[in-house]
Amino acid sequence: MEKKIEDLKQQLEKQCLINKDLQRQNKDLEQRLQEKEKLLQQLQSQYHDLEFPSQSSNETETEFRKSRAAVIAPEPIPETGRLEITQNRVKKTVSETSLIVKAIQKNDFLSRLDDEQIAMMVDLLMASTFKPGQEVIKEGSEGNSMYIVTAGELSVSQAGRDLRTLTTGDVFGELAILYNCKRTATVKAKTSVHLWCMERQTYRTIITNKSKKKREQLMGFLKTSRTLKHLNDMQLSRIIDSMEEVKYQDKDVIVREGTEGNTFYIILKGEVLVTKNVNGHQKQIRSMGKGEHFGEQALIREILRTATCIADGPVTCFSIDKEVFEETIPVEHLELFDDSKVMQEANVPEKSSPSSTLQFKDLVPVLYQEGRYQGDPVTLGVGGFGRVQLVTAINHGKYYAMKRVSKKQIVAKRQEEHMIFEKKILKAIQCDFIVRHYAAFKDTRYIYMVMEFCGGGEIWTKLKEVGRFDEPIAVFCTACVVEAYAYLHKKNIMYRDLKPENLMLDMKGYIKLVDFGFAKELVRGEKTYSFVGTPEYMPPEIIKNQGHDFAVDFWSLGILIFELLVGSPPFSSSEPQKIYAKILDGVLKFPPYLNEAAKSIISKLCRPRPGQRLGNTKNGIKDVRHHRWFSSMNWHKLRMCQLDAPTVRLIRKGPCYINFDRFPFDHTKAEEEFSGWDCDF
Ligand code: ATP
Ligand code: MG
Repeated sequence: MEKKIEDLKQQLEKQCLINKDLQRQNKDLEQRLQEKEKLLQQLQSQYHDLEFPSQSSNETETEFRKSRAAVIAPEPIPETGRLEITQNRVKKTVSETSLIVKAIQKNDFLSRLDDEQIAMMVDLLMASTFKPGQEVIKEGSEGNSMYIVTAGELSVSQAGRDLRTLTTGDVFGELAILYNCKRTATVKAKTSVHLWCMERQTYRTIITNKSKKKREQLMGFLKTSRTLKHLNDMQLSRIIDSMEEVKYQDKDVIVREGTEGNTFYIILKGEVLVTKNVNGHQKQIRSMGKGEHFGEQALIREILRTATCIADGPVTCFSIDKEVFEETIPVEHLELFDDSKVMQEANVPEKSSPSSTLQFKDLVPVLYQEGRYQGDPVTLGVGGFGRVQLVTAINHGKYYAMKRVSKKQIVAKRQEEHMIFEKKILKAIQCDFIVRHYAAFKDTRYIYMVMEFCGGGEIWTKLKEVGRFDEPIAVFCTACVVEAYAYLHKKNIMYRDLKPENLMLDMKGYIKLVDFGFAKELVRGEKTYSFVGTPEYMPPEIIKNQGHDFAVDFWSLGILIFELLVGSPPFSSSEPQKIYAKILDGVLKFPPYLNEAAKSIISKLCRPRPGQRLGNTKNGIKDVRHHRWFSSMNWHKLRMCQLDAPTVRLIRKGPCYINFDRFPFDHTKAEEEFSGWDCDF
């Protein structure tokens, strides 16, 4: 009995110990659960920030700001001449082709290109080999080629740190086919390596010529249509911009007899069978091939289809709906841009400016009065090509913004023409929504442009300060841009670099466009094929090298509205190729607080087909002004600068540079440059 009691006692004690242990474990688990929940909450909020990263960072003095650099492919594409780079074509075996195609499909950015562009790429890749230890790409250098690994292993490293290994089927350096981006990592052969590689110059030349040829061919096809043949080239070009590619599989019915028709088709590839119902039987009337079209009646009247068209094998068509067609081509009179009398700049007397008397020797730098840079010259901004300083004229005390650009750097980046054009445009422009240009100077090292000082600062900085703008501010800013666009487009100038960084506020809170480095004059109906812009603001037609025109400015207007209202642009990522992939996907994700009118105007401006974009259809920019998102805007008063700008509350009062980030003084001196490209300055 006693033994039993002892036994039970021992058991009880043991159990107690276990219980205690379990309790401890329980506590531990509970704590871990709480930690996990906290982590989950953190992750959730981080996720939200990533989706809509607008929240303001309350940094007051940001020395190195993260504004977005514009990018540009420097080499001009031969405008005429069908440069076929035949010597670069290497025939590939079936298995080689399949490896390349698989690699392309696996890649975020490349996989979004058209089939045709992918086929060209397969065609153009050249074989190259590297020995173990050899560098293929060097971090920090400018890229000219992209690569696909055929065999072997390569190491990827960043600042000496190994990141990962690349093997067969991996793609690297792909951004270089678009422009001369800086390499962000070093890629070195670990073993003996076989690669497929392609240079940007080759790719861009071929794709550009292809796109041009395709447009010419489509133009030819359209001219065979009875309804369309009387339209001029400019009108036909606009129709092409509105048309969309559609693919059909064998036996797919494209149009069915007796149904309502509202689409016109041109066959780009494949055969289409035309059949008609005769006494209850489908009778084949004829077959149509490349370049032929059907459904043209549907564009001009309401009709029922009089025949059935079926794909005979895979077919690709180019098509346009009646609704879009009507938007594109006005029936009687084609008016592409606004003719508002109020904007007639010819009658505006030159605003009295001290420009005529402005001398370089009279301009002195304004210095920081306090803070860590006290005594140093004030730098208003640093861009991709130069630095903008605050100066004043000793004789009359007015402030100016002076942009200083290194001539050597301009030559190195092959931006001579852009620079000359920027000055030429700015000099000729007199618009209240565009920064005024007063004088230009040069010495052996620099080009200087003296501009009106916009004391309110950059919209970019203001946006970062408040996170996102409320609707009245966004509407006002955008309306100013619309007026600047109306002025520029009327002069046949595309702007091509819209972003909050290039919008400045004057002291009244009115917006001025600055930075005309990418602006270009373009004949209506023509296209240009350069790769320019800022990744987040780039429209699909530039990324795909299809040729672009004034429609790019309307795309970027949509992106701007989104960014002003949300705090970040709709297509963004830290990696440019991911941005391009998202743009090509074209899916706009709106945060819940955007209202219906805002969503509508953004969607209409950011339509992938340039011909369907608001502002680029038959009524031109008027359609933008008339959109309901602008219903509260008094356009006339805006043009007369008689509106009270809601943006004034963003402007700080204090020393004249108070609305700008602060930059340390640049003590380096650019090298001298004597090639003489700047003789017109
Ligand atoms: P990027 O091409 O990289 O945008 P950039 O070298 O062509 O830059 P700008 O964009 O013209 O240079 O100017 C750089 C910055 O300088 C602007 O973002 C702005 O902050 C400031 N800035 C430019 N012009 C003015 C002005 N007229 N008044 C006040 N600040 C200005
Ligand atoms: Mg700029």
